[in-house]
Amino acid sequence: MQWEVVIGLETHVQLSTKTKIFSAADNEFGGEPNSHACAIDMALPGALPVLNREAVLRAARFGLAIGAKVAEKSVFDRKNYFYPDLPKGYQISQFEHPIVLGGKLSCLVTPKKGDPYIKVVELTRAHLEEDAGKSNHGIHPGETGVDLNRAGTPLIEIVTEPVMHSSDEAVAYARALHALVVWLGITEGNMQNGNFRCDANVSVRPVGDPKLGTRCEIKNLNSFRFLQSAIDYEVNRQIELIEDGGKVVQQTRLYDPENDETRPMRSKEDSMDYRYFPDPDLLPCVLSAEEIEELRRNLPELPHQMFERLKKEDGLSEYDAGILTSSHAVAQYYDELAHLVDDKKAAANWVMGELSSALKQSEGMTIDKAPVTPAVLAAIMARVSDGTINLKGAKKVFSAVWNGEGTDVDGLIGTLGLKQISDAGAIEKMVDEVLARNGAMVEQYKSGKQKAFNALVGQVMKVARGKASPAVVNQLLHRKLD
Ligand code: ADP
Ligand code: MG
Repeated sequence: MQWEVVIGLETHVQLSTKTKIFSAADNEFGGEPNSHACAIDMALPGALPVLNREAVLRAARFGLAIGAKVAEKSVFDRKNYFYPDLPKGYQISQFEHPIVLGGKLSCLVTPKKGDPYIKVVELTRAHLEEDAGKSNHGIHPGETGVDLNRAGTPLIEIVTEPVMHSSDEAVAYARALHALVVWLGITEGNMQNGNFRCDANVSVRPVGDPKLGTRCEIKNLNSFRFLQSAIDYEVNRQIELIEDGGKVVQQTRLYDPENDETRPMRSKEDSMDYRYFPDPDLLPCVLSAEEIEELRRNLPELPHQMFERLKKEDGLSEYDAGILTSSHAVAQYYDELAHLVDDKKAAANWVMGELSSALKQSEGMTIDKAPVTPAVLAAIMARVSDGTINLKGAKKVFSAVWNGEGTDVDGLIGTLGLKQISDAGAIEKMVDEVLARNGAMVEQYKSGKQKAFNALVGQVMKVARGKASPAVVNQLLHRKLD
């Protein structure tokens, strides 16, 4: 049997506003337990919520960025359930009238097998809500500590249609969404701190079956790697279960990264009835059409718009444009560099090649703090295009700057002895020498072996200690051999 995987994601994004969503308590992460919790977060009798305007504007900006409808009127509901870290006994959320409806997000999928492609994911909705507190097991042996610092942190929960068909697509979507919300500046997007958490709804069905299979929901995946592994595990579990004659039971599961498996948390039978109803303590949330229009006008250039610009104006491939707009920091670096150089493709190659691998090798380093700034990299590239150094030499200058040996590009070219030999006479001598010593290779080339030509180029470069201009070497060899 051939199976089709179906995935829908629900993502909680914590908004980094100064204060909480319904109080003036500060919205900082961490701190001593309960040091950032106020009367409202603790649900003291008589405490009344007041809506944080900035949280509403951020949710609206998100909606506009994904081309969704931003509701002029949305409603806060009470979602009732009992839990020690929810002292009110309900969470304030939006149910029937969310602030954001529809929209879509395109993302670059790079599957383990096969070519990269663009996938458009349709969104169902996004609503505003408050985060709950945290129950800490294990700090006090035998007891559970309740920390309400997180209670009241503004969240948007973003829900997709069930339109993703592999863990690769789900991860690509989650990455694109993460990049977008950071790009918009509505969250810090720090995944370790829980700023961005995904619930994955997963089902399988026989290929061609129009009916959706029964789904399981895996809660609280706070890394892209966990998201991928949890889905892969869950898909295999469901397929094996069905093929062995069993049935998938709709349930909520937790992913255990240590054993790389998902385990049931609660089944639908005992799932809660939340008894949603409009919160009488809060008025409907209203944004005028003018306010929404103004937010739209003030949006920054968005990832998909920059993606189109890089293809059209900078002549980059879809793949390059996709990589360079996959994070705001990378996009900014590329843009600064591209403004300083003519060869945009070369700029893209440097960012995606040398810079990206240097970043990978330097733990804790981020692109905005990279020792090779766009200006320095542009200076290195200028010395390649004017023929002073070749690409190999340029990479040496790059690592020297990266390793803190200074930022004076011309100085480094001098001290490292990287200046190319561009004197054709000197190179010609080397070419003659190599041709004289390698009669066999010359014969091979003349009998049609292109490889022999490359070997000869390599020999000349060796004699020149890598400093000859490859273009000149090629030219001279062709002249002498053809
Ligand atoms: P709930 O309120 O229980 O979370 P929703 O109907 O709001 O349920 O759906 C939540 C998420 O599950 C959405 O992202 C949706 O696309 C996805 N989903 C719904 N049905 C399926 C299914 N059969 N397989 C995979 N995903 C599904
Ligand atoms: Mg759900």
